[in-house]
Amino acid sequence: MATPIEKFSDFKINKQLLNAVEDLGYDQPTPIQQKAIPLILAGHDLLGIAQTGTGKTAAFVLPILMKAKYAQGTEPRVLILAPTRELVMQIEENIRELGKYTDLRYVSLYGGLGPKTQIEILEAGVDIIISTTGRFLDLYRKGKIPVKAIRTMVLDEADKMMDMGFLHQIKSILEIIPTKRQNLLFSATFHEKVEKLSEEFLEFPEKVEIAPQATTTDTIEQSLYMVPNFKTKVNVLMHLLEDEQAFNRVIVFVKTRKVAESLFKYLVRKLPEDQVKVIHANKGQNTRINSMEAFKEGNVRLLVATDVAARGLDVSMVSHVINFDVPLIYEDYVHRVGRTGRANHAGTAITFVNDAEAYHLGQIEQLIRMKIPVVEIPEAVVIEKTPFDEQQLILREIDDQKKKLDPDFKGAFHEKKAREFTPSKKNARGTDPNSQKNNRRGNTKRGKPIKGGQSPTGRKIKRSK
Ligand code: AMP
Repeated sequence: MATPIEKFSDFKINKQLLNAVEDLGYDQPTPIQQKAIPLILAGHDLLGIAQTGTGKTAAFVLPILMKAKYAQGTEPRVLILAPTRELVMQIEENIRELGKYTDLRYVSLYGGLGPKTQIEILEAGVDIIISTTGRFLDLYRKGKIPVKAIRTMVLDEADKMMDMGFLHQIKSILEIIPTKRQNLLFSATFHEKVEKLSEEFLEFPEKVEIAPQATTTDTIEQSLYMVPNFKTKVNVLMHLLEDEQAFNRVIVFVKTRKVAESLFKYLVRKLPEDQVKVIHANKGQNTRINSMEAFKEGNVRLLVATDVAARGLDVSMVSHVINFDVPLIYEDYVHRVGRTGRANHAGTAITFVNDAEAYHLGQIEQLIRMKIPVVEIPEAVVIEKTPFDEQQLILREIDDQKKKLDPDFKGAFHEKKAREFTPSKKNARGTDPNSQKNNRRGNTKRGKPIKGGQSPTGRKIKRSK
């Protein structure tokens, strides 16, 4: 067997692409890239079984850019189909970044907005189309897409396309584009429908499979609370910890040292001191080891930890993992949750999610391929009002997420902020009547759904009766 390629420079790709890879800070090709790139460059049809997060997009984008080389003529030569507008935009982003030192032209086609700009770009001439199946067919039927020059076709997330019922549209597209072409099919799973599709779509394909990294084990019970702010997260945590018998060995994960430290300080004031320890990178090595040992031996009930500090922490019998905040490196969710339910012990993982974190939660759910059930905040827990600064941070984050998903989005937060700080809006006391700070009850009426509790993913903060 050939030795795996360990450097991007070992692929037969040109300097422009290598420079772009370097700019992105990719040190080493991922396993799917190691396997797929040489096969695609050699002209094979390819069946790639790999999930999001494995680097599968660059695995096909890099060789495609290499083969397309430079802008030629006006007719597209590559067609990449994806199930959703978000994925189309993500692929486009990869092409923009990896193709930045080439003059290759590309266009993203998807619904939800008028086709005028998309048509103008097509008419000016493109080398690569990234599209949803529906919008591609619409524009083709309008006579806006010349297809004769297409020589490479990619179906990304084919399983999702099947699940969304796009088989018929894919078949229609296959009928209109030239039959002599290279085909690449990527899918996270290889169920029956995908297998059938691959038989129709691929010719003597090479199959490359990357074992899913991100599976959470069956022995872990997962749930989440939609919680509006930091203080309420603390309240939910304290409420859970009242059940000393069940919550007997708990790791509380937080995303930064600062949060770790402030949460720890709060907890030692509220709980017997020897029940809680904290580990993060600012703690000396010895202190960290001592804390971990104490926790391992069962002398400490609660360990507050950052992701980095908790690497290598091998403790069985952890009763609960509590994600005080949602990890931004999505694989960390799997690592965190994997701390409970070790060695076939039943474990529980509970995640606290605010409105800004709901987006990341959605990404994690895609990664683990399951929806985490939402639990209602118990009636006994006080829901605090969100301090102004925290609310601003949350709104800003949500705006940034929306902008990422839709580059045309202007940003409600920035508009709102501009409005809120207009002096004429202020009342006689010089305060802003719209600001939450001055709203005595905040958005937190007890026992009722919280106003504004709708997250970007459509989740509501829930209350039990
Ligand atoms: P994907 O599986 O294509 O959704 O990629 C997941 C993430 O991995 C993206 O943010 C990529 O930018 C990143 N990525 C892709 N290839 C590499 C690599 N070789 N090294 C580091 N990160 C990578």
